[in-house]
Amino acid sequence: GRKFFVGGNWKCNGTTEEVKKIVKTLNDGQVPSQDVVEVVVSPPYVYLPLVKSILRPDFHVAAQNCWVKKGGAYTGEVSAEILVDLDIPWVIIGHSERRLILGESNEFVGDKVAYALSKGLKVIACVGETLQQREAGTTVEVVAAQTKAIADRVSDWTNVVLAYEPVWAIGTGKVATPAQAQEVHSELRKWLHENISPEVAATVRIIYGGSVNGANSKELAGQPDVDGFLVGGASLKPEFIDIIKSAE
Ligand code: 13P
Repeated sequence: GRKFFVGGNWKCNGTTEEVKKIVKTLNDGQVPSQDVVEVVVSPPYVYLPLVKSILRPDFHVAAQNCWVKKGGAYTGEVSAEILVDLDIPWVIIGHSERRLILGESNEFVGDKVAYALSKGLKVIACVGETLQQREAGTTVEVVAAQTKAIADRVSDWTNVVLAYEPVWAIGTGKVATPAQAQEVHSELRKWLHENISPEVAATVRIIYGGSVNGANSKELAGQPDVDGFLVGGASLKPEFIDIIKSAE
């Protein structure tokens, strides 16, 4: 089976004091074992070494982005090589905030995923439609095109977790219903089955993100193709522990 995966995307939040407080809450939390759930938290780059050094050993860290190729004269960027040097195992790539606010295209995101994997990083690759696209009936087409741009550049999916994050659900309090999430997750799995392989479709974890909280996570987790979550706002709060507990 696919091991449940819960990611906490802290986005551009935190002070040193707040970061230490969040980590303390996580470290004190009673959660299922690593055999049942994989937990990864993603602070801003500059806090990664601090968080890694104080975080409980059964939880892991992720960067929120990385550069598309080898480092060099790219002011303001952080390369996959730097993340590897710091022993950061995971990176989030293609978050909708980067696609929409920073203008990252499907192809650029695909290139980033391929490069990060080639350096040995594990990748949480994000896809998701806007409200306008959903209302136009193009949700499946949009997430398939985003996934295809990754699939065109990646042959080994072992170290990829696919995060379905509908843009209209992110930070809005408008969580997808369990049926809405299940529908897109199952379409994504079908896409993987038809376009990559039955084996990849059966093993890649597809996690949901967008207004997940301690009150709605259990029902979402009960959907057959929902293999975990990517949590924003609630990952900064003690209820992140409750979300992790929805693994069992
Ligand atoms: P919220 O949980 O705050 O809606 O954010 C979801 C998200 O974007 C996680 O990457």
